[in-house]
Amino acid sequence: MGHNQCVPNQLDLSSLRLTVLGGGPGGYEAALVAASLGAKVTVVERQGLGGSAVLTDVVPSKTLIATADTMTRFTDAAGLGVRFSADSAVFADLDKVNQRLLKLALDQSSDIRATLERLGVRVIIGSGKLLDDLRMEVEEDGGKSIIEADAVLLAVGATPRELPSAKPDGERIFNWTQLYNLREIPEHLIVVGSGVTGAEFASAYNGLGSKVTLVSSRDRVLPGEDADAAEVLEGVFRDRGMTVLSRSRASAVDRTDDGVLVHLADGRTVEGSHCLVAVGAVPRTAGIGLEEAGVQLSESGHIEVDGVSRTTASNIYAAGDCTGIFALASVAAMQGRIAIAHLMGDSVTPIKLKQVASNIFTSPEIATVGVTEEDLASGRFQGDVVKLSLHTNPRAKMMNVKDGFVKVISRKGSGTVIGGVVVGPRASELIFPLALAVTKKLHVDDVASTFTVYPSLTGSISEAARRLHVHL
Ligand SMILES: Cc1cc2nc3c(=O)[nH]c(=O)nc-3n(C[C@H](O)[C@H](O)[C@H](O)COP(=O)(O)OP(=O)(O)OC[C@H]3O[C@@H](n4cnc5c(N)ncnc54)[C@H](O)[C@@H]3O)c2cc1C
Repeated sequence: MGHNQCVPNQLDLSSLRLTVLGGGPGGYEAALVAASLGAKVTVVERQGLGGSAVLTDVVPSKTLIATADTMTRFTDAAGLGVRFSADSAVFADLDKVNQRLLKLALDQSSDIRATLERLGVRVIIGSGKLLDDLRMEVEEDGGKSIIEADAVLLAVGATPRELPSAKPDGERIFNWTQLYNLREIPEHLIVVGSGVTGAEFASAYNGLGSKVTLVSSRDRVLPGEDADAAEVLEGVFRDRGMTVLSRSRASAVDRTDDGVLVHLADGRTVEGSHCLVAVGAVPRTAGIGLEEAGVQLSESGHIEVDGVSRTTASNIYAAGDCTGIFALASVAAMQGRIAIAHLMGDSVTPIKLKQVASNIFTSPEIATVGVTEEDLASGRFQGDVVKLSLHTNPRAKMMNVKDGFVKVISRKGSGTVIGGVVVGPRASELIFPLALAVTKKLHVDDVASTFTVYPSLTGSISEAARRLHVHL
């Protein structure tokens, strides 16, 4: 991909005009950095600051999952000797739960807007479209206007992919942005799609008390993730009463009088009360003047960028889900920051995807960083792997945690930590020592010789590192 040269590094930053299209983490983080360095920044966003990450995706889903987690702990409490008297029924008031999460999302959106405006960023609530590489047409309530800039950052995100035969209506058939309208726990939720989003909502609604059927077109849930982790999760899903239909492609979803009927490609049908269609996302890159501005798109419609977030057009950068790199808020924000560092002539290091820590917020959680066992199998990396099941960990026994493991991957010969997986409660927090080790290229002996608290789940991480010791 031939990338043109960008704005010269010697620019007077106080005269640099930057337009950011999209106010999600890819856009607002970049706007914050650019404004604090003195640039004149305008953010054009049509739904609200924080973007989909704050308004419909990360924030509401993780808030919902916080309630589901609490419910799951009630269910699991019996294993720790907790008893409830006959009349102390526990249930989630979904109306309250959803009101809470939507308020939280809106509050966070206003906080982001206030922070941007405090730094002098001009925020326009409207839709933007490039006219050429320097001019953007903006349509807002008051009409149309044109903004001129020296540089543009595109952070337009992605939107749920729709199946023509399973159109969401927001009443019985939903995409994930509509699910928060539910007022009562669905009696039987059918989740179509067993990727990260499908698995997270299936897990959450199972925890909240719905009957859940997960329809997966693949051999196992979470295709593309660590196979051991996916196997543990699928086992837990089944143990918790979820029906997981593997190798079952949904071909259509219809409304019935009082629910939904999901048709599978092999002729079977599944009847439920509600259906969530979570079959991926498509970038919001159509019809916003990208081709006219010389911004090259991939076949999937994603914006092609290099390691420092440059597109194929001079002075136009892109960050986040619209680039199709890793659909993560943390990656979007990092791409945005890198774009600004490059634009402003600051020292810049290209994004390193093998250092990205990510988490799937199911119960148990699945957190990963760095090189995977699949990378080893493909021969791209040579490594050693130690996997320790949590059921041998003393803290896990005390907490009655039976499902989960830690896996540490080190470079063959040298013993440098290059990857890891944690499956367990709060794996999202437990992955940090491994992320630090991968990023800072620590040796397994560095991890093994660091004190862990006794008893603790992290004890299994240092134990795995100990077992990876390289004998000289
Ligand atoms: C259910 C769900 C849960 C998730 N959970 C997590 C998680 O726990 N952790 C994590 O790291 N990631 C998570 N993600 C991924 C995360 O949401 C995305 O990676 C992140 O939102 C990407 O940020 P972005 O800035 O690229 O885009 P977005 O957050 O999508 O923001 C883009 C914004 O651009 C605006 N826009 C688009 N086109 C225009 C236009 N022409 N004019 C004006 N405005 C426009 C849109 O309105 C939108 O608000 C989750 C995703 C989903 C679907």
